[in-house]
Amino acid sequence: MKIFVTGGAGYIGSNCVDQLIRRGDEVVVFDNLTEGHRAAVHPQAKLIVGDLQDAGCISAAMQAERPDAVMHFAANALVGESMVNPSKYFNNNVRGGLNLLDAMVTAGVKRFVFSSTCATFGVPERVPIDESVPQRPINPYGQSKLMFEDILRWYDRLHGIVFVSLRYFNAAGAGETYGEDHRIETHLIPNVLKVALGQRESVDVFGGDYETPDGSCIRDYIHIIDLAEAHLLALTRKESAFYNLGTGGGNSVFEVIECCRRITGHPIPAVVKPRRPGDPPRLIAGSAKIEAELGWKPRFQKLDAIIASAWAWHQKHPHGYGD
Ligand code: UDP
Repeated sequence: MKIFVTGGAGYIGSNCVDQLIRRGDEVVVFDNLTEGHRAAVHPQAKLIVGDLQDAGCISAAMQAERPDAVMHFAANALVGESMVNPSKYFNNNVRGGLNLLDAMVTAGVKRFVFSSTCATFGVPERVPIDESVPQRPINPYGQSKLMFEDILRWYDRLHGIVFVSLRYFNAAGAGETYGEDHRIETHLIPNVLKVALGQRESVDVFGGDYETPDGSCIRDYIHIIDLAEAHLLALTRKESAFYNLGTGGGNSVFEVIECCRRITGHPIPAVVKPRRPGDPPRLIAGSAKIEAELGWKPRFQKLDAIIASAWAWHQKHPHGYGD
């Protein structure tokens, strides 16, 4: 197949591109390189440097390439930033995505895989969070992704675009070649590993007074390789669907730090700070639906294996992609 991957130079996109190319697909990456890295684009993929805000640019690229399917990763994805700059999130995640869908309609491209998020659920009514839990986002990031999910339902009904929306929980770990490198790092695991690399003195724990057993937030960390496999399976789906993607287990911030201490052998000092606005206390996925319908099962169930892969990548790339 020929797959058009927006955000293919980013953390999750680059790992999906890697798996697509390994199985013999032709890949076109469309990325503006603000969050992504040129060095994270697989050498066998074609790179188009472009911005989804530029409707003419994405439309021309789609007409020229006419792929069998689109995987859409390009987005802003930071809860905290979305609380101070909502406009960035609604513009890039909703308006940019709409330009992409309209380019697909014009070019007659009918298959779509969307990077959605557990942030669409807000503070969930219950956990594990399966697809029947009501979506009530508590930050503009989650809201922007939910708005786009609603747009997708209409583009299926009115334009026949078959989509699969994958609501990731916390993507973590690294593949053999591609890992996590954000120019401004806000994510927990890379920030903890920066302490082990000697690049930071300590790691902040945002909130030690949540109603969780140790007072810190609980998240469902899922290996990037397992996430990428779900995208490949999504391409086999004949009807539109929404799937929640996680391991079904959860780890607190303190547990993540402790696991990183074990794996790196570094003491990693931690400092408890105030809560980060927009953070729900506990997010754990119920992924039975994608297991039943697509046969997806996470291979990496243990946090240790996920963090070990991240640590291996960060040791090899202490300054990320170096750009
Ligand atoms: N977190 C933290 N210190 C950090 C970064 C994150 O305590 O330096 C917490 C954050 O408040 C959240 C969890 O770790 O509860 C995971 O945050 P991350 O930003 O990695 O992912 P998110 O859940 O926001 O997508």
